[in-house]
Amino acid sequence: MSCFVGDTNFCPECGNVLPLPGMQDIVRCPRCSFGIPVNEFSGREIRSTVVFNPEQSTLALEDEQDSELKGPVIDRRCSRCNKEGMVYHTRQMRSADEGQTVFFTCIHCRYQEKEDS
Ligand SMILES: [Zn+2]
Ligand SMILES: [Zn+2]
Repeated sequence: MSCFVGDTNFCPECGNVLPLPGMQDIVRCPRCSFGIPVNEFSGREIRSTVVFNPEQSTLALEDEQDSELKGPVIDRRCSRCNKEGMVYHTRQMRSADEGQTVFFTCIHCRYQEKEDS
């Protein structure tokens, strides 16, 4: 339960800020005295944090991304933000003789690295 401390919850009846669960089984709104059982209260809290899950942020990224972030994601570690997960894509440079340059784009901070093959 302590992991919810610091998060703000609102009364579904009047929108007032609810107090954090205490010793009682019910969290009661100080304004309209609407009561929510603590276990339900915690469940609501879990659902509201879903916004921050990786799946959602990936979707949001894809919306505003250009083609740089479309491609296979590999386990390469970004040298800027140090997180794993970079999109792999190749680009043919000037002429075919010079071979391909491999680009990696960080899915977290969009940092780009390239490697000549
Ligand atoms: Zn209320
Ligand atoms: Zn990065």
